[in-house]
Amino acid sequence: MTTQYQNYIDGRFLPAAYDMIAVTNPATYELLALVPDSDSAALDEAIAAARLAQPAWEKLPAIQRAAHLRAIAAKLREKREELARIITREQGKVLPLARVEVDFTADYIDYMAEWARRLEGEVLTSDRPGEHIFLLRKPVGVTAGILPWNFPFFLIARKMAPALVTGNTIVIKPSEETPINAFEFAKIVAETDLPPGVFNLVCGRGATTGAMLAKHPGIDLISFTGSVPTGALIMEAAASNLTRINLELGGKAPAIVLADADLDLAAKAIHASRVINTGQVCNCAERVYVERSVADEFIGKTMALMKGVRFGDPNKDETLDMGPLVNQQGLDKVAAMVDQARTQGAEIALGGKRADVESGFHYLPTVITGCKPDMAIMRKEIFGPVLPIQIVDDLDEAITYANDSEYGLTSSIFTRDINSAMKACRELRFGETYINREHFEAMQGFHAGRKKSGIGGADGKHGLYEFMETQVVYLQTY
Ligand code: NAD
Repeated sequence: MTTQYQNYIDGRFLPAAYDMIAVTNPATYELLALVPDSDSAALDEAIAAARLAQPAWEKLPAIQRAAHLRAIAAKLREKREELARIITREQGKVLPLARVEVDFTADYIDYMAEWARRLEGEVLTSDRPGEHIFLLRKPVGVTAGILPWNFPFFLIARKMAPALVTGNTIVIKPSEETPINAFEFAKIVAETDLPPGVFNLVCGRGATTGAMLAKHPGIDLISFTGSVPTGALIMEAAASNLTRINLELGGKAPAIVLADADLDLAAKAIHASRVINTGQVCNCAERVYVERSVADEFIGKTMALMKGVRFGDPNKDETLDMGPLVNQQGLDKVAAMVDQARTQGAEIALGGKRADVESGFHYLPTVITGCKPDMAIMRKEIFGPVLPIQIVDDLDEAITYANDSEYGLTSSIFTRDINSAMKACRELRFGETYINREHFEAMQGFHAGRKKSGIGGADGKHGLYEFMETQVVYLQTY
């Protein structure tokens, strides 16, 4: 019989008569499980449980909250292989990457737990004799985490760990594309003695359950990761209650390759950025600007690497470089964008079509040359294994084109000249800039998009502060 999952609310898996959503394997189309398409009653119940649990959770010393987080991280590690296989089955990423995702998730939870003894307020200088001014940092209260499907397991931790260590409770809504790993996460939480109501999981479709969650007056902060259009809808929904928002949205990361770059390193890093998770990563290189004098050599090296990319069913072969795209919609979008680039005059140097396979949403590793700045392939998020390349005359031109974008998440530059690298850092309008390496952030950094790529950010000390608000206390002594 098909596995049916139930929402995790107030420390229990609650059976309910919801409509169910079918979850399938993107490599085989096999039905994996049925999950709830939750209604407003389920959300009300989860938010009420989170609200009830929050004051006692906040009162618990931070070091004890951290101990609960560490217990969850330890259990994730015990189930590493099982969890990785679940992620691969429902999302389609290759197994070694799914293992990295589980490891990174556990490490991230431990990292956030470390902050327990480092959360600080401030003491300010007063203008008045005998007065003391304290700046207290407090949890916002009940938070909502709305998640995408591309790193579905890690993103649970990116929301819940900073929320919980700072004294908030949380309601998570996973993507309806990849909810199984989230239910498995909830099962692990249920095996620990985390107080009921601190962590809740409610599953459902975005347009219904997600929209109701974003509009709910019982939520104090919505932390959302997903696409720009959904981010805008969430901002609109949050406006009705003036709910705080934290938005981690899409990207169109430029990679700039200068004539003095180590071209082997640049080709390797950019290729890795385009192939990881089948190109479905918000921060990875989505467009290349290469200096004319090295363009042929760089394109040759990149083509050689992209030609060698092996793809297929990641459940069967651990050595593959890529699995399928997440669903038919994703595949159709990638195919349409490449077709449009072709009709607009770009040259498909490699790939450029759906893979001829029996099953799985596979698209061939693709390199597109002769791209022009106004082509959609250089402006819109592709989210697939497709690398468009434009030739530029110098660094200034590359920076101008890189910045001419509605997105501002990540960017990179490949050069041996520190002056060029630092000029790019000064002038690029992106939340992150990588120099001579692939795009991938560290948990102690601050992952924050500018322009339409988001509001606020995640990770590190600054990410923690997103889950807190400040209260100033004026104490007059006499
Ligand atoms: P999506 O916006 O389609 O969905 C994300 C989540 O929002 C899902 O849980 C969905 O059910 C929910 N949702 C959909 N409509 C909603 C609505 N009206 N109200 C409330 N919730 C709603 O995104 P996706 O396709 O799951 O993920 C891919 C996108 O996420 C890409 O654009 C990628 O760049 C972005 N992303 C960004 C980051 C980052 O850190 N900046 C990280 C990962 C992914």
